[in-house]
Amino acid sequence: MDSRLIEALTQIVGAANVLTTPEAKQPYAADQWWYAIAAAAAGAPISRPDVVVRATSTEQVAAVVRLANQYGVPITPWGGGSGVQGAANADRGGIVLDLKGMNRVRHMDMKSLTCTVEAGKICRDFEAELNAVGLSFTHYPASTEWATIGGSIGARGSGVLSTKYGKIEDHVLSLEFVTPTGEIVRTPSVPRHAAGPELTQLLIGAEGIFGVITAAVVKLRRLPAKRAFLAYAFKNLADGVEAGRQVMVSGLRPSVMRLYDDYAAAHSLARAVDMPLPDPTFVIMCDGEYPDLVEVEAAKVAEIMRACGGAALPAQISATWWERRYVFYYPPYAPELPSIWGTIDVVADYEHIEAVYHATTQAVRAAVPAHFNLSLTTHFSHWYEWGSMIYARAKIPVGPDDLAEAKALHDTIFRVGVQAALEAGAVLNDHHGVGMRLAPYLSAQYAAEGMALLRQLKQALDPNNIMCPGKLGV
Ligand SMILES: Cc1cc2nc3c(=O)[nH]c(=O)nc-3n(C[C@H](O)[C@H](O)[C@H](O)COP(=O)(O)OP(=O)(O)OC[C@H]3O[C@@H](n4cnc5c(N)ncnc54)[C@H](O)[C@@H]3O)c2cc1C
Repeated sequence: MDSRLIEALTQIVGAANVLTTPEAKQPYAADQWWYAIAAAAAGAPISRPDVVVRATSTEQVAAVVRLANQYGVPITPWGGGSGVQGAANADRGGIVLDLKGMNRVRHMDMKSLTCTVEAGKICRDFEAELNAVGLSFTHYPASTEWATIGGSIGARGSGVLSTKYGKIEDHVLSLEFVTPTGEIVRTPSVPRHAAGPELTQLLIGAEGIFGVITAAVVKLRRLPAKRAFLAYAFKNLADGVEAGRQVMVSGLRPSVMRLYDDYAAAHSLARAVDMPLPDPTFVIMCDGEYPDLVEVEAAKVAEIMRACGGAALPAQISATWWERRYVFYYPPYAPELPSIWGTIDVVADYEHIEAVYHATTQAVRAAVPAHFNLSLTTHFSHWYEWGSMIYARAKIPVGPDDLAEAKALHDTIFRVGVQAALEAGAVLNDHHGVGMRLAPYLSAQYAAEGMALLRQLKQALDPNNIMCPGKLGV
């Protein structure tokens, strides 16, 4: 890399924040996509930044972006590096821009219950600070210990409370961001407006291609005074899905609704709550400020569950799940090499959701030879008025030794699973983003016209193709 660029970067952020040695760059060699981890472990990382720059202010970010334009060098924003689709990997080298130094809460509006928070703030730290004053961000991803606010927005993330409180796009009121040519833009921060199109949404889910998010104004809520738990077993999955649909169309809003299919109930949920669960199982939590209202809501949800054939299980199952909800994403429970793992998360309306479930799970099961002992645990964990999402987690305990063979197997699982889901009427993804893993399928999602529009936008906003070139299939 041009030494003049390194010198100029040093002038902007200081020598301590310009990392050029292999040891210093090593933490940026892979996000949490299985293949990125496997390739890095094999000594051939797909993320190969020439330099890592740690920024601590919006002005620094803008100056770095302008410099990258001047030198024609790619920039990839890096939050927590917890993405599972490969989006944050600097596969074309250049600058990785680590935002974690931008971690201040700039302003709390205790009247409007909003907060201006910088993009590099880790979700767990943000939530802890808010909880200390009786508030909550209500965005609870299982990766809360790593994921940043900016990365959650960049990947269109979601948390376990999304059914009541929404996905990240529902939490964000406005953004401060640096455009691909280095200008600082702030979008209007009001509940709703009619001042033209909403530029905030252009950046949400853009995975860095339309600029670097530096701060967000987000909604806050008061911590609930009461949480009520319910658990139900169903003889078949279809009845469980129908129960979930009826809850959602009735206007009831549990904060947690997770329906595990029989395999996931028996092999995943049962382990988390330490109780045998042979049937499809619904884990539900209602919460709120008024205990009596929470109890009424829980009672109404229970009525629907029973009317749809649900058999009440001990509520302690859901309470235990809530207490242990993150445990299973971390060692010693999280998969490690030489396993192969990954999640196909798709979303569909109620008209198609069951067909999507059957098509996806059957296609994946049929594609993996029996001797690989595929485990496919599937649950429906984010519910909407019009549909739900399917989270199908595939794991092969021991993959082939050869990296290329292992990747071929991984890619087969995703190809058949995603194609089956799309053909059955699903949308590619609910909350993990596109990244390198799903980029090959984006054109099937958007069609030629949609992809052309995306490319035109990218070209107009980023004439030098600086921001994450090649990502999102553009
Ligand atoms: C164990 C585990 C559990 C998980 N559970 C969940 C879950 O419950 N819900 C969920 O939604 N996801 C989950 N994920 C996936 C991941 O945590 C999310 O995608 C998260 O939003 C990524 O945040 P990050 O800060 O780590 O972003 P990164 O991985 O660093 O980046 C993700 C993308 O956003 C871009 N980006 C990062 N910061 C910015 C910025 N400031 N401006 C513009 N673009 C930016 C990057 O370039 C990249 O394209 C999980 C991952 C793991 C490993």
